[in-house]
Formats: sequence, structure tokens, C-alpha cells
Amino acid sequence: MKPDQLLRPAPAGLYCPAGDFYIDPVRPVARALVTHGHSDHARAGHGAVLATQETLDIMEIRYGADFCGTRQSAAFGERIEVNGVTVSFHPAGHVLGSAQIAVEKAGLRIVASGDYKRGVDPTCAAYEPVPCDIFITEATFGLPVFHHPDPKAEMGKLITSLRQFPERSHLVGAYSLGKSQRVIRLLRDCGYDAPVYIHGSLAKLCDYYVSRGIDLGDLRPATVEKGDKTDFRDAVIVGPPSAFADRWARRFNEPLIAFASGWMMVRQRAKQGGVELPLVISDHCDWPELTETIRELAPQEVWVTHGREEALVRWCELAGLPARPLHLVGYEDEGD
Ligand SMILES: [Zn+2]
Repeated sequence: MKPDQLLRPAPAGLYCPAGDFYIDPVRPVARALVTHGHSDHARAGHGAVLATQETLDIMEIRYGADFCGTRQSAAFGERIEVNGVTVSFHPAGHVLGSAQIAVEKAGLRIVASGDYKRGVDPTCAAYEPVPCDIFITEATFGLPVFHHPDPKAEMGKLITSLRQFPERSHLVGAYSLGKSQRVIRLLRDCGYDAPVYIHGSLAKLCDYYVSRGIDLGDLRPATVEKGDKTDFRDAVIVGPPSAFADRWARRFNEPLIAFASGWMMVRQRAKQGGVELPLVISDHCDWPELTETIRELAPQEVWVTHGREEALVRWCELAGLPARPLHLVGYEDEGD
């Protein structure tokens, strides 16, 4: 079987002609396999969706019960036939429920990583390497300049700031799915056991993480009822970055803006966003993780998508691995 009969880039996303399905389609299709719940990968309106139970639950939380026609859940490692093609889901270590999808037929196996990372994250199952002929890797941080530091050390900066500026409200920007729960869990792992206040848009997803056994400690709504700014003096408030441009942020006492994102490695980005305390915490592979993963898997071929495709393609070629960029459009990860 030729690789492009098993998977090929198409306008709606990665398409499997042999099984007539898409992986993470960006527009409504009859049959979709979804790697994880971030909005650029998991969209509403498909006929049938196959995903992990967590991803299906997260899609329902975000889009409502009627987000697709029919749904089927895939356990990690379970082999499922779709129109004569065998598919299986494997942990990607990106966010709760995130999966790589292996697609195989006639002795050819292609693994689509979706978004993934190798670093420790107690809020989701750890990435598992899946041997394959062709590995499709994301490349969000696919430049040698990207090295993500130890997330606990980054969180230590927030703890230090809380001690230094006890009168200020610390507002931590973090995307609502995955990053905010990871930030809260990291705070707990650094010994912070005071209540953490959350923006209303995080509540359902935080509740869902807790229901799946991820302890986030004492969470309370960040609502100022009596309009007294001093209520939140000394507090940590977690919210989506979009909320910080809002009137919502101005109700806090001398707010100190932090932002947890892999992009905080880029000083310019932190500056432009008015971020006083950048925290480099990413749910994607950095450059060493990308290249080590490719070395470890040693596939016959690498396809690169989502981000800095050319640099990683070039690295593969120099390492003697055939590689090509997929140029898929429509992916701007909300959970970097
Ligand atoms: Zn993602």
C-alpha cells in the first residue's frame, strides 16, 4: 500500500482514502477521528466521531451534547476497524485524553502524533512511543532556539513573586483546556495550598479534570461580589488570557499579570502582551524533544505539520531521514 492511500493532506485535514475518514478535520465531515479536545483539532458538526472518552466528554462540555451525529470511544491501545483500516489511539501527553492515532493496513503503519510532549505532566497520561513506518509530528516549537525549562522551576517564579508582592493579585493567564489545570496542579506540587480563584470559563473543565481523579485542591470562583478589590489581595487567579484585556481583570488589586505558555520564551511576545511575569510552561515538545522522539522512533519517513515545518524537515534530511512538510492549514493551537 502506498502511503498516500492510507493518509494524505486534504483541504479538510488529514484524509484516509482507504478508510474514508479524516483525522482532526477543520471542517464538518462524515467521519472524524479526533486526537484531543483543543478547538482547532476538535470541531463540532461531524457525522461520526471516534476519540478517547475524555476527548468526547470535553467536546460535549465545550460544544453541547449534540456536537456530532454519533460517537464512539476508543480505549488506549484498542484496535478498531474502520472500513477495513485498523486504527488505535495511544497517549500523547498533551492534555487530558490526548492521543496519537495509529492507522494501518497491509503492513503499513502511519502514526499521527497530534499535539504531544515528553515532559512530566500529572494531569494526563504520558506520551508512549509507537513504532511506525511513517511518523507525522507536530512542530509548534520546531526551531533549535526552543528549549522549555523545568515547569516546576517556572512555577517557583510565581511562588517567589507571591512572597515578594503579597499585596498584589497575581493573575495567571492559561488556556482553558489543559494549561490552566496543569498550572493549578503545578502550584499544588510546589506546596501552594491556599485557595486558587478561577475565571468562570474554566469551571466546567476544572470540574471535569477533578472528576477524572486529578486533584486541583481548593478552587473558588473569581467573582467580586461586594466589589471590594482587597478581597483578592495576596490571591492567585487563573483565567484565559483573553479575559485579561477585559474589565474583569481591572477589579483586582494592583494586578500582576503572569502568562503560562511556551511562547513566553520569546521576550517580545511577553512584552507585547503586557506580561510582567512570563512562565515558560508548554504542552508541546520543544526542539530537543522533537528531535529525540524522531531519533527514538527511527521511522522510514517523517511528515511534519503544525508550525515550523521547514526547520524540522531540514533536520531530518541532515539526519538521513526522508521528510516532508504537510502544509495543513487551520491549526493554531489554543493550548500552547
Ligand atoms: Zn493542542
